[in-house]
Amino acid sequence: MLKQLFTCALVASIFTSFAAEKKPKLVLQITVDQLRADLPLRYMHNFKDGGFRYLYEEGTVYTDAHHPHANTETIVGHTTLATGATPSVHGMIGNVWVDRATGKTTYNIEDPNYHLLSKNADVDQKNEIDPTQKAASTDGRSPMGILSTTFSDELAIFTNGQSKVFGVSVKDRGAVSMAGHAGKAYWFSKKAGSFVTSNYYQEKYPAWIEAWNKSGILDKYKGQSWTLSKDKSEYELAHMDDVPWETDLAGFGKKFPHPWKDGKYFTTLLTISPAGDELTLNFAKELMKQEKVGQDNVTDYLSVSFSSTDYVGHIFGPSSLEMEDNLYQLDGFIANLLEYVDDTVGLENTLVVLSSDHGAPEVPGYLNSLKIPAKFIHPCEWPNDSAIKSLEKEFDIKTKLIEKYQHPYVYFSKEVYSRSDKERLAIEKAAVDYLTKINGVNLAISSRALENNALPNTAIHKAVLNNFHPERSGDIYIVFDSNCFINDFDGLEVACTHGSPWAYDTHVPLIFAGFGIDDQKVPRRVSTCDLALTLSNIIGCRPPSGSVANVLEEVLED
Ligand SMILES: [Zn+2]
Repeated sequence: MLKQLFTCALVASIFTSFAAEKKPKLVLQITVDQLRADLPLRYMHNFKDGGFRYLYEEGTVYTDAHHPHANTETIVGHTTLATGATPSVHGMIGNVWVDRATGKTTYNIEDPNYHLLSKNADVDQKNEIDPTQKAASTDGRSPMGILSTTFSDELAIFTNGQSKVFGVSVKDRGAVSMAGHAGKAYWFSKKAGSFVTSNYYQEKYPAWIEAWNKSGILDKYKGQSWTLSKDKSEYELAHMDDVPWETDLAGFGKKFPHPWKDGKYFTTLLTISPAGDELTLNFAKELMKQEKVGQDNVTDYLSVSFSSTDYVGHIFGPSSLEMEDNLYQLDGFIANLLEYVDDTVGLENTLVVLSSDHGAPEVPGYLNSLKIPAKFIHPCEWPNDSAIKSLEKEFDIKTKLIEKYQHPYVYFSKEVYSRSDKERLAIEKAAVDYLTKINGVNLAISSRALENNALPNTAIHKAVLNNFHPERSGDIYIVFDSNCFINDFDGLEVACTHGSPWAYDTHVPLIFAGFGIDDQKVPRRVSTCDLALTLSNIIGCRPPSGSVANVLEEVLED
């Protein structure tokens, strides 16, 4: 009896201590698009206080965090950070895939059932210089294609829907993925020059968004240029302003100042500069103010995904004067956001996390200048390759063998699908054999082999398996050699493109700060899947439904 009473008392005391455990008023998740882990470290000595320095010096920093999947693209990485799951489970296997059932090319979060609230803000099919504008065929957007719950969903369940949950980004996929199914997402429409959402989230904009969009906030950039924020002599890469491998996009130029102009591509060019992040910062602060984020004892969640680093990396490369200046300005924006959060919520009440959706390769021209072998590869030419043509003859294929290469997958044509299983197997084997021999191809891995678990247990095979979803993945996954890339970004030629399982694309920062988190460096290898599970563990909510991760114990120590 005494023992029973003692046990009851113990259980009661544990329960009280859990219940009384302080919860953050706000979880602020910052994601910097294409922030390879070494990039902030290269310029740390030049950063001011309060931004990256605050995070790296006051936070728990995982120095060897990697994405676990092979196709390191924006939606894939964001959704992995949000769900703690691999793409094989959360379903976001690439920015674009070919739907098995319909044969239609599908843009990740496209959903024709949920239209944008703004008129004339839809995808711009005529925009020759911005492939992300052309990837989707309708203006509908929702998180319905994300197949497991996010941390933000679980927070909403845990608090009976009382948590305010928001995702903000220039990119639709940077906002929608993080807001999850239960939150609200806002992103920047380049066509409309305003922040928008779809009727998945709400039927009508709150008045403050209408007002923000009408405030003329873009006017200050019109006819102006992106200029250096410091004296040129203070830059590490001052000598690399004008190099041959940079892209000159719509007259934006290869060297400073880069004119935003006031024409057709004004808003697109804004996003290829720190102005895109400045707009995101401004919108996020207004959202916090108007929606009273972090102002009561129910934990709220705000995700801010900064996109400019990705665009600047694609156009100018990670080792460019443009990227160096972009990072200095981003550092200032992060400091500004954290200062605002400190003033309104208190950093001691805010759990801050920072990571990135993927890293980045260096531009081949730059690597070659350091005598490091690197080159471009052109898989879009494969369907018409003479060896593929002879395979078509050999297997008596009347139409074509390869329907298309949609990075990172080769998709077979309908005719190949119409063949018997035995014939398809033979065609697939011949195609894998041929593709593997192409100069620059490291591995060609068939989805059938993944399904049959018939592959060696290497890190790269595992990463390709983590990327495999039976209804969305193509027929053959192509892994290029290290430092071999496509420079075709859906029809636009750019300086460099991520999307590989190599370390330069998988290695990202992973930092927890604020809310009494210890300052420490943790060098052990961790997965980006661990982030969402660790957030769940701190809050005490359910783990995201597909999370396959480990709790980062160092964050919980205090
Ligand atoms: Zn990118």
